[in-house]
Amino acid sequence: MKNSGETRLDWLYSLKKKILLGIFGILTLSIILTMVFIAVMLRDRLIKDSKYKTQELSNAIQSSLSSLMLKRDPDMIQGTIENIGSNNHSILKAFILDKHGRIAYSSDKNEIGRILDRYKEESCLGCHQKTGTVPSDNTIIINNNDSKLLRNVKVIYNSESCHGCHPKSDRINGKLIIDRSLKSTYSLITSIELMIFISGIVCIIFLIPFFSRVLTKGVNQYIDEIVHQNIELKLLYVMIERLSKTIDMEELKIIVIEIIKESLDADEVDVIFHKDTREYRVTAWSRDKGSVSRKKVDRNDPLFLIINNWLDGKITEEEISKDKNLIYLPIKKTDIDLALIIIRKTEGIFAPMRLGLLKIMSSHISVAFENAMLYHIAITDELTNLFTQRHFRTSIDRHFLDYEKYGEKLTLLMLDIDDFKKVNDTYGHMVGDSVLKDVAERIMLSIRDNDLAFRYGGEEFTVILPSTDSGGAKHVAERIREDIANHVFEDGTSNLKITVSIGVSTCPDNANTVRDLILTADQALYGAKHTGKNKVVVSEANKNNK
Ligand code: GH3
Ligand code: MG
Ligand code: MG
Repeated sequence: MKNSGETRLDWLYSLKKKILLGIFGILTLSIILTMVFIAVMLRDRLIKDSKYKTQELSNAIQSSLSSLMLKRDPDMIQGTIENIGSNNHSILKAFILDKHGRIAYSSDKNEIGRILDRYKEESCLGCHQKTGTVPSDNTIIINNNDSKLLRNVKVIYNSESCHGCHPKSDRINGKLIIDRSLKSTYSLITSIELMIFISGIVCIIFLIPFFSRVLTKGVNQYIDEIVHQNIELKLLYVMIERLSKTIDMEELKIIVIEIIKESLDADEVDVIFHKDTREYRVTAWSRDKGSVSRKKVDRNDPLFLIINNWLDGKITEEEISKDKNLIYLPIKKTDIDLALIIIRKTEGIFAPMRLGLLKIMSSHISVAFENAMLYHIAITDELTNLFTQRHFRTSIDRHFLDYEKYGEKLTLLMLDIDDFKKVNDTYGHMVGDSVLKDVAERIMLSIRDNDLAFRYGGEEFTVILPSTDSGGAKHVAERIREDIANHVFEDGTSNLKITVSIGVSTCPDNANTVRDLILTADQALYGAKHTGKNKVVVSEANKNNK
């Protein structure tokens, strides 16, 4: 099936047809023209040759007759002419006309004495009637009945040797005329023309299909190349466009998987990131499952060895297995390994034409991953690994817009560690920091994937709960509070317990602006602090007015 890239190139295929038809047309025409040219040249050449032979023959006859004329022996002259006529098959007739146009000697005895009327005789009309000229010492083609013949006319002038018989004043004494048949020349021409015609037909029948195959192959290859480059360009364009759509790493991984599975027609794609601790996180997709899943890789996983090879610098460039069904695509930024993408085909092999895309793909993915990583660093608190307060501002605005658009309730939790000063004072800031880290981890464990946790201030945290009403939010808040209260924080020397107070506020129950949402959550937190701490207080704002 042609994809849209190919469909748009349909004009190329129709152009191909036109080009091929044009070439075949030109080829056929040139073969025909060549045939005609050769035939015309040959015909011309053969007739010229025949004329030349007639001329030579005529010269020889004239010279032998001249010597006989000197002997003044008419019988010898007649005998010689008769001999010429009967011995030379190509000569139809030889005769001598006297100056009155009477046949004086002829190879055909019966003709002797007959006056040749040049304006009536069929064989003379061609020259004399039309042009009115007397044929000179030349060989001409004349029509005789239905056939054509070559006629050589030699004028016999009144030379000194003739003065014995003819008076000096008669300038022309007669004409020697030799007629030769053109039949054999014409039959030779016909058979050569037939041969040329047959070879032309053979050329057209055999050469054209041969050329057509060679040409079609060549043109097809050329078109395939154009189509392939067009698809590659389109894929690259779509890839760059899609990669630039997000700087969120998780979204980006999914986009990368989609790009790879579509452009390489892959059946399985794994995107692997590693942490310094040699803990591997894999975002995996397979055609069978149809969805993207995230998993951790342990030592028993077959991926473990591959990942170790990659981290040990054994996979530095893209690698394609011999069976052409497995690709390792390392994503690097200069010399730093960012990720490893493993691409599999469970049935069949990867299309070789698409493999050229791997390098450019890897460089674009690398840029996108690096941007996402930088962005992640920019929005992540270094100590707790939660999002920063600055990111909270953009996130709450975005979720508020979604709330306004879709009308699903939006809840904000505001947390503050109770009596944290004491922790610092008693155990020191290092322990305080470690507690902050642990609290962040406890919060993350108690919320869903869609919820977002932020370090709002020193030991204050916020959690955005999209599509959550105050009842559900209170539930989450209680879960966090309880989990932290029950958790034992270890600092290496002593175990300590801490608690948190949480304020809960919901749109539209307690607020209708972002500012009011933050304010009312803060007020609820304040309420929790002032009513004994280690508790969850749901905002009552606006409710009193209803
Ligand atoms: P309350 O129950 O009223 O919240 O009492 P509190 O002692 O927790 O009071 P408050 O929230 O005002 O205290 C904030 C303290 O948290 C002040 C500061 O020493 C500590 N703190 C803030 N940021 C950090 C931090 O990054 N690391 C450590 N170790 N302590 C911090
Ligand atoms: Mg505080
Ligand atoms: Mg506090």
